[in-house]
Amino acid sequence: MKIAETVTFAGANLDRAADWRADSTAHIADSDVIALWRGKPLVMGDALVRLRHDHPALSDARDMRLLLARSGGRAIFAADLSDWTPAGPDVAHLDSFSDQTEQAHPAVPQATFVELRSAMTRLSREDAELAATARSLFHWHAIHGFCANCGAASVATQAGWQRDCAACGRHHFPRTDPVVIMLITHQNSVLVGRSPGWPEGMYSLLAGFVEPGETLEAAVRREVFEEAGVTVGAVSYLASQPWAFPASLMCGMRGEATSTAIKIDPAEIEDARWVTREEMADVFAGQHHDIKPARPGAIAHFLLENWLSDTLD
Ligand SMILES: [Zn+2]
Repeated sequence: MKIAETVTFAGANLDRAADWRADSTAHIADSDVIALWRGKPLVMGDALVRLRHDHPALSDARDMRLLLARSGGRAIFAADLSDWTPAGPDVAHLDSFSDQTEQAHPAVPQATFVELRSAMTRLSREDAELAATARSLFHWHAIHGFCANCGAASVATQAGWQRDCAACGRHHFPRTDPVVIMLITHQNSVLVGRSPGWPEGMYSLLAGFVEPGETLEAAVRREVFEEAGVTVGAVSYLASQPWAFPASLMCGMRGEATSTAIKIDPAEIEDARWVTREEMADVFAGQHHDIKPARPGAIAHFLLENWLSDTLD
């Protein structure tokens, strides 16, 4: 797909400065720092806030600084302010795609921590990639404090890109979990489905995790048959999108259905249906009687939009 890298979270061509990771502290004095609070980046207007390394707000940050990138010769680090408690209502259950709340830190009162899925389409490509990278890495550290090999506590090294276990010597690296998300078509129609608990009227492309020992193509055929009972013949790759919620790489695939009868697995999805191109155009125009459009910025929206405009090649 020629325009694959125009999907949200792609195309920034970020210099990740791997050669600075072993000695990242040497670059802190001449750096910018982006801040996250419980996975939400600090944003002002349409941009991430870049703080000086000694900004007062960073006194609330955890010790570890992630080295994300190098831009204009300066390092860009990320700091995690998750231990800070904002004033206001209970914020215990904010990690959801419907979180519309924003939190302002008193040391940066003009900016707010916002849910990345709410801000992703208005950030620049560089800012979107920086925020997604930091969000995924901080989440990985939060749940990988102990060595998976021996159970001893591990420590972050390489500016946050590795954890080492002193007890057994094992090195651990950040995970990215591949997910196939598929545009399954039959003649003039596309297969969409919805999961239990989604907002009313929301349908999207079917998706599922790739299993160990499986190719992307086999995962597409297995998932579509498991979830919707539809068999798939030819499969091809279209585009990918890092999806930091928390650690997926969405692999956008195209598949041609060889059967059309739908038999859903109710443990996986609530409904699946075939939607014609004309109906999907109505969905995107907000004029369909019972289907709402996929979320802008998500790869499902990108793939459907390009299917409608015949720009998948
Ligand atoms: Zn160990």
